[in-house]
Amino acid sequence: MSTSRRDFLKTSALAAAGMALAGCSGGPALSALSGGFSGGPLHLRFFPYELQLRHSFTVASYSRTVTPDVQVEIRWEGLSGYGEASMPPYLGQSVASVSAFLEKVKLEQFNDPFRMEDILSYVDSLSEGDSAAKAAIDIALHDLVGKILGVPWYRIWGLDPAKAPSTSYTIGIDTPEVVREKTLEAAGRFNVLKVKVGLDSDYEMIRTIRSVTSVPLVVDANQGWKDRSKALDEISWLKEQGVLMVEQPLPVGAIDDTAWLTERSPLPIFADESVQRLRDVPALKGVFNGINIKLMKCTGMREAYKMITLARALDMKVMIGCMTETSCAVSAAAQLSPLVDFADLDGNLLISNDRFRGVQVADGRLKLPSEPGIGIIPL
Ligand SMILES: [Mg+2]
Repeated sequence: MSTSRRDFLKTSALAAAGMALAGCSGGPALSALSGGFSGGPLHLRFFPYELQLRHSFTVASYSRTVTPDVQVEIRWEGLSGYGEASMPPYLGQSVASVSAFLEKVKLEQFNDPFRMEDILSYVDSLSEGDSAAKAAIDIALHDLVGKILGVPWYRIWGLDPAKAPSTSYTIGIDTPEVVREKTLEAAGRFNVLKVKVGLDSDYEMIRTIRSVTSVPLVVDANQGWKDRSKALDEISWLKEQGVLMVEQPLPVGAIDDTAWLTERSPLPIFADESVQRLRDVPALKGVFNGINIKLMKCTGMREAYKMITLARALDMKVMIGCMTETSCAVSAAAQLSPLVDFADLDGNLLISNDRFRGVQVADGRLKLPSEPGIGIIPL
């Protein structure tokens, strides 16, 4: 075990003790709430952590068995907030780029974690991209502030945890035997399965799944379809197969073709690769029916909340998704899930080396933890 990792774990234990103390005595928590506290500076720490996938993961454009990840902690007055940056290849971010960005962030200049707008605006101003690194800080700060207040974020936002939806569970592209096996395993535990399509094997994949279960499906083409008429034919067939919606059918640049398809599609069409941040949303009205928000794309919980608000104002549908992540980022995203139409928060279930216990799945639905902040406990 490396020194930094050992220190990190030690700090986790201290943070738990700090929380208990804060809860008993009021301590920094109460003085922070009163606004008259003299808090010390915020401290940022991080280390790389490679996520091991349970099964190799194949979508239309690539296949892989690990996902690079950076774990983040913000410490303040004996409390720790946790965050993470997960970097699937298509985001164009890496452990090196995330580490270089985090080195630039000087959180010591802030001593009031409640100044989230100022802190996160400063972090965002440091570069144009780096969405995953920014999300890691955003998540850790939300976790910290929730812990100071002693409540989870769904409560701070005024959301009913009973409205958390079912999460879909992804069945990757594979041989019919493996697909059948994975589907049988998942069909009893989840109310919606997500199927990666966008290859010549689509019809075979869906038929294979339908040979073992009638559970509702959502499909994600990951830009894999190239022809709008063929896509429309396939979507019409998919509707007959009990599919509820389609994610990112055509390439990001195919805006006119996507608008053509959305106008005619019998199923709602959601943007994933076509939407990153808040500023992208208005232009998607009339092109897609909905957007897939992911913390690693949009820089975190604060911007995700704004994107949901804007999408609703534009009468668009919303789903919340994730990358392959630990229960840290997945539980952070789950705090927003009572607000969305579809949740696709299975990233923590796809890895074998989770570092936290957080959001659970019960009868296929997301069960939001009552723990404060983003609701996680270090394992
Ligand atoms: Mg997608």
